[in-house]
Amino acid sequence: MTQVAFPLHLVTRFAPSPTGRLHIGHGYSALQAYDLARKSKGRFLLRIEDTDVTRCRPEYTQGIFEDLAWLGLDWDGVVIQSERLGAYDAALERLKGLGVAYPCFCTRGDIARELAASLHAPHGADGPLYPGTCRALGADERRERMARGDPHSWRLDMGAALARTGPLCWHDDAAGDVPVDPDALGDLIVKGRDRPASYHLAVVVDDADQGVTHVVRGRDVFASTHAHRTLQALLGLPTPVYRHHPLVVDAQGQRLAKRSAGLSLAELRDAGWEGAALAADIRAGRFPLGIGLSEA
Ligand code: GLU
Repeated sequence: MTQVAFPLHLVTRFAPSPTGRLHIGHGYSALQAYDLARKSKGRFLLRIEDTDVTRCRPEYTQGIFEDLAWLGLDWDGVVIQSERLGAYDAALERLKGLGVAYPCFCTRGDIARELAASLHAPHGADGPLYPGTCRALGADERRERMARGDPHSWRLDMGAALARTGPLCWHDDAAGDVPVDPDALGDLIVKGRDRPASYHLAVVVDDADQGVTHVVRGRDVFASTHAHRTLQALLGLPTPVYRHHPLVVDAQGQRLAKRSAGLSLAELRDAGWEGAALAADIRAGRFPLGIGLSEA
């Protein structure tokens, strides 16, 4: 009998947003996902998360392909989110049909005022939670404002969602089994007012459609996984295993950003670095230019 050491169907992905050139932190993340797939003879997929129409640019998408190839990565498929908006709309319709999504007419200013007026605004992973103003709107007012065409986003009613699904849990390679915390993100946005799709909803739909079994990504989005697990349960989608890796930080301990000067893969290439050598160094945990991994 043949002994199979790893599941043959293991599928990982790297899902950058084309809002700037990739930096060493992206290279680290992509290599983590790539190596996990390749070591188990699985598949490594790419996804271009370009739903933020104001910030994404086609030349950055091209840059992603160039930079990853320069590092020596190849991929077994690409999904471009802006070509899949119908799938996200369909998922939103399902959430509405389940009665777990509501239109939110609040502007940022409205929310800030509401929070300032409340004594005990609950905080989640990314700051104060949405205070639930529009969740409490009566059906008539909601209908009237919709009929009037008032600008709105759509939010997940996290309480109603978990009442429907019951308690949920997800698995992180490092943190183990993690129970879903409804207050991690609160009533998150599943369709922004100025965006064709939300990050959270698109990620969940695409991870399922791409058959992703292992999501490898930075710890900065750890809290989002509470929302993603909830959306998977509501939409009847499978749940991948998660690996949230440490973040790459600069010499001052600050997270690398797309605007961090001199640390983009393109700049290193122009400065004479060799992609394969840099990839080998990153794999060995030897980061150049004072860069390292965050402790937390
Ligand atoms: N586009 C997201 C980012 O660049 C991807 C996060 C994820 O892998 O789910 O942070």
